Amino acid sequence: MVDMESSLAEGLVLEAVDALTDTMIGEISTLVRIPSVSGTAAENDAQIHVARMLREGGLEIDLWPIDLAETFAKPAFPGVEVHRDEAWGLVGRLVGSGDGPTLMLNGHVDVVPIGDPEAWSFPAFDGEIRNGNLHGRGSCDMKAGLIAAHWAVQAIRSAGIRLRGDLLLAAVQGEEDGGLGTFALLERGWRADACLIPEPTDLDIVPANSGSLTFRLRVHGHATHASRRTEGVSAIEKFWPIWHALTELETCRHAHVDPMAARWKLAHPLSIGTVHAGDWASSVPDLLIAEGRLGVALDEPVEHAREEFEAAVARTCEADPWLRDHPVEVEWWGGQFASGRLHAESDLVERMQRAHAIASESRPNDVWAAPYGSDLRLLVGQGGIPTLQYGPGDVARAHGPDELVPVDDIVITARALALMALDICGVAG
Ligand SMILES: [Zn+2]
Repeated sequence: MVDMESSLAEGLVLEAVDALTDTMIGEISTLVRIPSVSGTAAENDAQIHVARMLREGGLEIDLWPIDLAETFAKPAFPGVEVHRDEAWGLVGRLVGSGDGPTLMLNGHVDVVPIGDPEAWSFPAFDGEIRNGNLHGRGSCDMKAGLIAAHWAVQAIRSAGIRLRGDLLLAAVQGEEDGGLGTFALLERGWRADACLIPEPTDLDIVPANSGSLTFRLRVHGHATHASRRTEGVSAIEKFWPIWHALTELETCRHAHVDPMAARWKLAHPLSIGTVHAGDWASSVPDLLIAEGRLGVALDEPVEHAREEFEAAVARTCEADPWLRDHPVEVEWWGGQFASGRLHAESDLVERMQRAHAIASESRPNDVWAAPYGSDLRLLVGQGGIPTLQYGPGDVARAHGPDELVPVDDIVITARALALMALDICGVAG
């Protein structure tokens, strides 16, 4: 393709995105109003809703019920944290002329729970626009990005452009609790030459993620009547040295941080998320269960991170007479996110920078590694697909009350993704 044809196609597709903006924003509000919390029936509803949208948008659809028992039994399965009886895989395909590379756009439909409804200034799933921002749980993470990807595909269609390679739009479930959907689509055999995930990056480019391993600790004590507490052993008191040891471990594990992740106060945090102990106010508690996540450094093998964690727990137990005889049990369960990084030889970052510059009219952006795990590591690792994240909204607004995403950034994302499709897939003559 000569340069003039190339810039002509780019101009057409950008015009098409801009013409479709109102429809796109309306579709995001509609999707936000489906409260697709991980593991609820609405998660499936959202997936079926998106499937209908893709079909109506003229894409070839692969919509299949994921065989959960079979998928969970795979050795490489990354885990789940909520129960599901049903889940659907979905890939839409805009068929190219057959002689160009395939680009996949990948986004998840599941969202995390809303937390305390009183902490929200408005109903959590209202999908309304206020002061240039679209509000609601899942707006930022990542329904805006997913629908922007859909309308990037639609802009190419409405501009009458035929791509050389296939353009795939994958909508997935179960991203928040481990990556079920992306794992399943890779198992089904879907592949691409490049993949973009429009997760909230504030329009920066994120070609790498730290990992995150969910763990559970069981700390044993000895129950007795609280009036004779010195004859019992409190599991809460025995947790205290473990907690200290884990805090120290987190510090040690940040002695050297990859420059790509150096912007974060903690590039791969270790955090305790839940603690439950005891079953009666006047008993000495004989069991404490704590759950949390262990961050995995960029390029660190998952096994190495687990070994460091288990060794820190074991050392602490060794130093305490009670814990020596009643060691704390460590269990790895739920989401097991390895870290992931775009292949060093890939030029995807440079191509994304160019697309962003055109789409945003040269708004500055940055390149960094995210401190959280995502489907990127599955696409890069299991799928061998060069992948990066680029999308609207600040992740600091995700997973909390008053989640929102700036409308202008959604439009820039749709423009940039459409340009990437032209660039990667190529335009048929
Ligand atoms: Zn997300």
